[in-house]
Amino acid sequence: ELAKRMGEKGADLVKELFNLDMMVTVNQTIDQDTAELLVEQFGHTIQKVSEADVDIQTTEDDDPVETMVPRPPIVAVMGHVDHGKTSLLDALRKTNVTRGEAGGITQHIGAYQVTTKDGSKVTFLDTPGHAAFTEMRQRGANVTDIVVLVVAADDGIMPQTIEAIKHAKAANVPMIVAINKIDKPEANAQKIRERLLEHEVMVEAMSGDVQDVEISAKNGTGLEELIEKIALQAELLELKARPDRPAEATVVEAQLDKGRGPVATVLINRGTLKRGDTFVVGTESGKVRAIVNDQGKQIKEAGPSMPVEVLGLGGVPSAGELLTVVENEQRAREVAQYRQEKATEKRTALAPTSFDTMFNKSNVIEWPCVVKADVQGSVEAITTALHNLSNDDIKVRVLHAGVGAITETDVQLASGSKAPIIGFNVRPNAKARELVKRDGVRMMYHDVIYHLTDEVTGELLGELGPLK
Ligand code: GDP
Repeated sequence: ELAKRMGEKGADLVKELFNLDMMVTVNQTIDQDTAELLVEQFGHTIQKVSEADVDIQTTEDDDPVETMVPRPPIVAVMGHVDHGKTSLLDALRKTNVTRGEAGGITQHIGAYQVTTKDGSKVTFLDTPGHAAFTEMRQRGANVTDIVVLVVAADDGIMPQTIEAIKHAKAANVPMIVAINKIDKPEANAQKIRERLLEHEVMVEAMSGDVQDVEISAKNGTGLEELIEKIALQAELLELKARPDRPAEATVVEAQLDKGRGPVATVLINRGTLKRGDTFVVGTESGKVRAIVNDQGKQIKEAGPSMPVEVLGLGGVPSAGELLTVVENEQRAREVAQYRQEKATEKRTALAPTSFDTMFNKSNVIEWPCVVKADVQGSVEAITTALHNLSNDDIKVRVLHAGVGAITETDVQLASGSKAPIIGFNVRPNAKARELVKRDGVRMMYHDVIYHLTDEVTGELLGELGPLK
């Protein structure tokens, strides 16, 4: 097989192996090192094809203990709608500004850092609710160290409170309960503590080990105490990472910025990210052109648990994807190209044939489409909204959903499945436009989600034909 690939004679390889003191026959398996040696001996170049050879393997924390130093905790704020998650995140951000971080206003980059009184830091994910948390987890990214569960003292335990508790428990992430709106006359913190017992959350006052704190996001009561409790919890967790190594970071948010190109907010998992570093993120390679912190200031490097914006990406990655610094551009391109090939293979395998498109086994009609939008949040919202339009008779099938302009690949995919392309605040690039014309692919442009779902609903009704 190896001889065939090189266009050499099998017997010549065997002879060469004999010279290397290896007594083998022509159909015997040889190990990788020997194979590489042979290929070089014959003056050929090695092309690696297996995943283990090409892709980046280690994402585990395999740094020696003695190289690790304490890192700030990463905190997610969860809880029921209207219980004050956004108000709390805003209030915490302000405590930081008043503490006199030069620069003042914190930018909305998806995460920010707060400095505690004793100078230690806490990183907050600036996306309230559990959607971001679960989406990241679904992609295998467990970035959250601590969950702050916000419960309004005038309302109580609600469905999303229970969901948040379940998510935190499933992810094995410790919780701190923030009993909010304590300024309200009808607030009853004790009732909340009691009610939490029903969901197996035992706060310290109820002789459990979950910390709780009464706060008012509105007038700032209890915020210092909350930060202290987070710091205490973080100490117990002994969070550590090695700073002096090539960086590994998780994408929290990413978008196509009109002026700056693709921009991703990342949290550094370990190592230090430096300007000029070459990296791979998902199927794209890139070179760090600039690092911007949560104060909107350009910085030269970022260490563990720091949230920063990274400029210099080749495309827009998805939340939860890992950004890995590699030794050089060639390696970055190799890994990115390999991943792109894998992704295309997967997409082709997923794309239905035109017959499948109309009827699958259970006789449910499928309505395929390709979705492109300007930001990741919209991609996710649209995909969910479209899936929700499916019923027992007809199913919306999103063949591909992504951020950025509509490209040739999108048009090819849509055309192959006779699917329309939905462009949300995005348009096709020049090459894609030609293909759209040539293949007669239908385009649906929108900038309001419900207009989009209205149009699709109409389409679905049309596909179903007159009611029986
Ligand atoms: P979210 O949906 O959980 O993000 O909740 P919001 O932060 O948007 O808050 C919902 C409502 O509760 C808003 O009208 C806030 O002004 C109000 N609110 C939030 N925190 C407090 C608080 O501590 N006290 C009072 N009285 N109102 C609050």
